[in-house]
Amino acid sequence: MTDHRINPTALATTIENILLADGCTADEAKTVADHLVLASLSGHDSHGVIRTMRYHIWVEDGTINPDTPLTTILDNGPLLQLDGNDGMGQWLAREATEQGIAKAKEHGIAIVALRRAGHIGRIGTYAEHACAAGMASIQFCNVNGSLLVAPFGTARRCIGTDPVAVGIPNPAGEDFILDFATSLVAEGKALVAGTGGKPLPDDALVDADGRITGDPRALYGDSLDTPNPDPRGGPGALRAMGDHKGSGLALACELLAGALTGNGANRPVEGQFGNGLLSIIIDPKTFDDTGMFGREVSDYLDFVHSSPPAVGVEKVLVPGDKERALRAERTANGLPMPEPVLAGILATAKEVGVKVTSADLIK
Ligand code: NAD
Repeated sequence: MTDHRINPTALATTIENILLADGCTADEAKTVADHLVLASLSGHDSHGVIRTMRYHIWVEDGTINPDTPLTTILDNGPLLQLDGNDGMGQWLAREATEQGIAKAKEHGIAIVALRRAGHIGRIGTYAEHACAAGMASIQFCNVNGSLLVAPFGTARRCIGTDPVAVGIPNPAGEDFILDFATSLVAEGKALVAGTGGKPLPDDALVDADGRITGDPRALYGDSLDTPNPDPRGGPGALRAMGDHKGSGLALACELLAGALTGNGANRPVEGQFGNGLLSIIIDPKTFDDTGMFGREVSDYLDFVHSSPPAVGVEKVLVPGDKERALRAERTANGLPMPEPVLAGILATAKEVGVKVTSADLIK
C-alpha cells in the first residue's frame, strides 16, 4: 500500500493540540510539534511524528512531565549545567541551546550540560539552531534507561543508541550538519525488518553469544510474534557502528553526556528514561583574526562537493545535504505517512478530544 501524503502544517497543528490536551504549555506544545514534523520532513521518520503516540503514553505513565521548568544547577561564565526534571525534551534542549548561544556570544564559547531531559528527538536540530545563530557546535547525547547496544567485543547491552552531532555554519552556503546514532542501525529500523519490512544489514546485531547477525530476533526475541515487539525481549543486541572506533565514540557519549552531565550512564537495570546532552558551542569569530573562517568553510565544502562520484554514487553529498533535499521535496509534495501511523495519530487525537479527520491532514 502506498503512503499517504500529509500536509505538514495541518499535522503540526494536530500534534500541537494533542500535546496541549496532554497538559503541555503552549510553547512546549508548539516546540515539540514543530520538532517532530521537521524531523519527519528531514527524512528521520524514526524521530518524527511517529513519536506522537509514544509521547502521549509517556505523559500518561509519568515517563515525561509536561509543564516542567528547566532548573539551573550551575551558571558560571561560559559554563551552564541544567536539569530538565524529566520534562518535554525538545523544549528543554531548545532552551538549553538558546542559553548556550547567548553565553557563546558573550564568552566565545559555552559548555552546556543538560541532564534528565525527556526524549530530545533529532539532535541535529540543536546543531542547526546554533548554526542559525552563526555558532559551531558539538553535541554528545546519551539515552539513559534504554539499553539496546553492545559495545565492541561483547554481546552485553551497555549503551543506548547515543547520538552525536556537529554543526558548522557556512556563511556563504548550506551549513554542515552531521548527526547520527552510534548504533549501526536505529532500533526503529530493526522493528521494521522484524515485522516484514526491509531487512537489516547482516552485521547490524549480535546474538547471545556475540555472533554477528542480521536477525532482529536477537533484539526482540519471541516478542516479535506479538503485536508489540519489545526490544528488551531478545538475548542479543544492536551493534555499535564502526567496530572498535564507533564503539569508543558511543562509550564517550555515555561518559560525557551521561556521567559528566549528571544524567547518569546506563546500568544493567534500566531506570527512568532520560536524555543527557553535552553541548559545546563555539563562536567562530573568537579564533577568526584573519577573517578567513567563512571562506574556508565554503571553499572546502565546494571542494568536497565537486569530487568525482564513485561508481554507483549519483552525487557527492556532505552532512546535512540529504536532510535539506528531503525537506524541500516533502514540504512541496506532502509528508509520506503509512496508514498505521496516520491511524495512530488520529486515534490519539480522538482519545484526548482533538477534532481532526484524515481529510483534514491528507494533502
Ligand atoms: P543516519 O544514519 O541517517 O545518518 C545521518 C547523517 O549522515 C546526517 O548527518 C546525514 O546528512 C549524513 N548522510 C546521510 N547520507 C549521506 C551521504 N550520502 N553522504 C554524506 N552524508 C550523508 O542517521 P541515524 O543514525 O539513523 O540517526 C537518526 C536520528 O536519530 C538522528 O537525528 C539522531 O539525532 C536521532 N537519535 C536520537 C536519539 C535520542 O535519544 N534523542 C537517539 C538515537 C538517535
